[in-house]
Amino acid sequence: MKKFKRHLITSALPYANGPIHIGHLAGVYIPSDIYTRYLRLRGEDVISICGSDEHGVPITLKARKEGITPQEVVDRYHSLNKKAFEDFGIAFDIYSRTSNKIHYETASEFFKTLYDKGEFIEKTSSQYYDEEAGCFLADRYITGGCPYCGNENAYGDQCEKCGTSLNATDLINPKSAISGSAPVLKDTLHWYLPLDKYEGWLKKWILEEHTEWKPNVYGQCKSWLDQGLQPRAVSRDLDWGVPVPLEGAKGKVLYVWFDAPIGYISATKELTNDWEKYWKDPETSMIHFIGKDNIVFHCIIFPSMLKAEGTYILPQNVPANEFLNLEGDKISTSRNWAVWLHEYLEEFPGKQDSLRYALCASAPETKDNDFTWKEFQARNNNELVAILGNFINRTLVLTDKYFNSHVPTPGKLTDYDTSTLNSIATLKQSVENNIETFRFRQALAEAMNLARLGNKYLADTEPWKVIRNDEERVKTILYVSLQITASLAIILEPFIPFSMDKLKGWLNIDSLRWDEAGNSQLLAPGHKVSSGELMFSKIEDDVIEKQIQKLLDTKKANQASLAPVLSQKEDVSFDEFSMMDIRTATILEAEKVARTTKLMKLKVDTGIDVRTIVSGIAEHFTVEELPGRKVSVIVNLAPRTIKGIESKGMILLAEDATGHMTFIVSEDDIKNGSPVR
Ligand SMILES: [Zn+2]
Repeated sequence: MKKFKRHLITSALPYANGPIHIGHLAGVYIPSDIYTRYLRLRGEDVISICGSDEHGVPITLKARKEGITPQEVVDRYHSLNKKAFEDFGIAFDIYSRTSNKIHYETASEFFKTLYDKGEFIEKTSSQYYDEEAGCFLADRYITGGCPYCGNENAYGDQCEKCGTSLNATDLINPKSAISGSAPVLKDTLHWYLPLDKYEGWLKKWILEEHTEWKPNVYGQCKSWLDQGLQPRAVSRDLDWGVPVPLEGAKGKVLYVWFDAPIGYISATKELTNDWEKYWKDPETSMIHFIGKDNIVFHCIIFPSMLKAEGTYILPQNVPANEFLNLEGDKISTSRNWAVWLHEYLEEFPGKQDSLRYALCASAPETKDNDFTWKEFQARNNNELVAILGNFINRTLVLTDKYFNSHVPTPGKLTDYDTSTLNSIATLKQSVENNIETFRFRQALAEAMNLARLGNKYLADTEPWKVIRNDEERVKTILYVSLQITASLAIILEPFIPFSMDKLKGWLNIDSLRWDEAGNSQLLAPGHKVSSGELMFSKIEDDVIEKQIQKLLDTKKANQASLAPVLSQKEDVSFDEFSMMDIRTATILEAEKVARTTKLMKLKVDTGIDVRTIVSGIAEHFTVEELPGRKVSVIVNLAPRTIKGIESKGMILLAEDATGHMTFIVSEDDIKNGSPVR
């Protein structure tokens, strides 16, 4: 690793329109946290920057849908996510937000510098405008017919039915999502960053000078560069975002892809007055941790912006991960298909490290990977509990039992003792090499190998048997085991910090530096330790089954909402409709019809009379919950005899695609017998 004076770590700014889920954690925040904690243990000058990305169309859409302001949307998710990161031990030095004043100033200034240097091109283009609402329409605000598959509700940027990406002008009969009116094309002026101008430089910088970048990152950059780059608009017509700081640019804001990465700079400014040395001194190593969907922004666009500005350094590396799936399906915020961090923290109190461990151990570093609750359980029970926890516990308990929790004085070391002690340093070196090349999965596996080594050493040397006739030998065995334990406390700290803090407490050592790991005399003879408690506990089957059931419920709800709506029946005349006599009514009594599963015999007060109605609702409602329920009844449906019972009329219910049934009732408590028309 080239020696740098300081380190600037950035983690992709989470978009403030939803909570953090395990995909975010495995892809970005756990790797960045491991790397940051590692550098801190080394005593390096390092700052870790993150914050909420709070601009862009999806936030305005969500606000409109919920009838609140965009600021209210971002306030909600900013505080939720900030707290979840803290509680999960993600050690940012600052978690800022792009709606802060300092960010508006920084982003405006950045734009202005590029504008004054003549780095933008100005271009007028035709875009859809909603005359009723008086605003230009972002692609997501326009719906219409897909020219490829005929889907009536394609968006201005994509048809979600056939997956084709579209231009808003491709849509048949476009419609504004704001007013519902047909939009008109209108000219609008925007500023573009001519990325084509940076193509040659980017090719040299990435393809020749950064061949060490991860293959998935390098490959994606190469494919973008091979296709050729186009100028990209840095502004758009919207009322939510950083206003374009120019005369006559009213109603235009910085495009979110331009403003968001500048958020890293504003957050650093907010953190320290000394921010420039982190951003402008070539002795700083800047690393961007991101997911694969952000590669083009962090490897091509943001570096071009920094290059155009001229005074900033460029990233040393952009270790992007691939995607994590959940139980075989793509994680999706809109489909609620995720394990949400804030919910995990509530449902698994004190088990941050179990999730940190499982997500790192199966992180999608080179290809997409799958998270399953069963694997999570196995990682916790078979690795954290059975390997790591077991070794530490046995070492501390035996030390307590035989030597009153004092580190014993070793006797003469056997070859096996020496080779075991030497392995600590070898494994530590391997963890280090893997972390520095962003192979965190492998780094964790090597660190766990140290715990495996410890378990094997205890199993081979059997101190609990040897103690009967050779206490001196047991002193040496536990001395060696304790040295392994102390090194574990250091090299596992970046991965599972909560547990290693506990361990340091039990070992009675406050802080250790990374370089001390591998030292075979970390704990001096006579040093007092404590017997500790169990470091990890097993996760039982019923806990895991509850989580799996939660996902199954989500799947069912999604199926219901995605099921196609039944097509309309043939027209009826008004006269035909008005022949139907529908009234409000109240159920008085209910009993199941014998020898049937679906039928319920109901006594109903229709306002006209009290009558018997047989209804197929016995699988949806209990006998106890029905009396008193308000319903609507077709009272003039010709009587029918069902299972020997005369049924006079029909109760109205709505039923969704999963078979869920609900009564059609009036919102107010209206008198029985009132007509429904
Ligand atoms: Zn389509």
